[in-house]
Amino acid sequence: MGALNIENVKKAFGQVEVLKGINLEVTDGEFVVFVGPSGCGKSTLLRVIAGLEDSTSGRVVIDGADVSATPPAKRGIAMVFQTYALYPHLTVKNNMGLGLKQAGTPAAEIDRRIGIASSMLSLEPYLARRPAELSGGQRQRVAIGRAVVREPKLFLFDEPLSNLDAALRVNTRLEIAQLHRRLKATMIYVTHDQVEAMTLADKIVVLNAGKIEQIGGPMELYNAPANEFVAGFIGSPK
Ligand code: ADP
Ligand code: MG
Repeated sequence: MGALNIENVKKAFGQVEVLKGINLEVTDGEFVVFVGPSGCGKSTLLRVIAGLEDSTSGRVVIDGADVSATPPAKRGIAMVFQTYALYPHLTVKNNMGLGLKQAGTPAAEIDRRIGIASSMLSLEPYLARRPAELSGGQRQRVAIGRAVVREPKLFLFDEPLSNLDAALRVNTRLEIAQLHRRLKATMIYVTHDQVEAMTLADKIVVLNAGKIEQIGGPMELYNAPANEFVAGFIGSPK
C-alpha cells in the first residue's frame, strides 16, 4: 500500500474526458514528477488528488483510506501554485500562519512551526513584510513555507517555478529538493520542463491527452522510452 494510490481515475468536463483512467502508486517519501504538454490534464489530476475537483469515477486512496468523500482541508495535503496565491494585505508571517490559525492551532505552536519553516527557506528577514515588498522568488518561498507549516503528508506543486526567471528557477528548484530531503515528505510536482523533471524526480509520470504514457525513473525514461512520444518529450530541448 502506497502513501497515495490513484485507481482508474477519470474526469470529464461536460462531454470532454480530460483524465481517461489514471492508475498510479506513490510510495512514502517519494518525489514524483508529472510531465506532459499543456492541456494534457496535469493540473486536473493534482486538483482531483487535493479534492479541489471531484473525479467522474475511480478512487483516490491516501495512506490506505479512500478520500473521495474527504474535504480538501482534511486530506493532509498542502498545495503550492504557480501564482503563489498569497494574501496581499497579510504579512509573510501571517500568510504562513493563517491556515493553522483557522484550524485552531495554538499561537505558540504556530510560531514554532513558522520559525522552523522560515529558517529552512531563509525567510526570517522578511516575516514582517507584505507580498508586494517581496521578489517573485521570495513570494514563492512564502507559499512553500505556508505549505510546510501545515506539516502535510503530501505536498502538491503545480508548476511552482513557471513565473520565475531562469536564475531563480534554479535556486528555488534546489530549495525544493533540499526540503524534500529534510522533511522526507511525499511530493508530487507538476512541470512541463524536462530539466526540472530529470533533476528532481525519483519517478516521472509522462502524461499525454489524459493518459499515462510511461512511468519510470529519469534514466529509465531517458534510456528506454516506451514510445516516440516519451522519447520526444524527455529527449528534446524545451
Ligand atoms: P495541464 O495542467 O496539463 O496544462 P489541465 O489539467 O489544466 O492541463 O487541463 C486539461 C484539459 O481540461 C484542458 O483541455 C482544459 O481546457 C480542460 N479543463 C481544465 N479545467 C477545466 C474546467 N474547470 N472546465 C472545463 N474544462 C477544463
Ligand atoms: Mg496546469
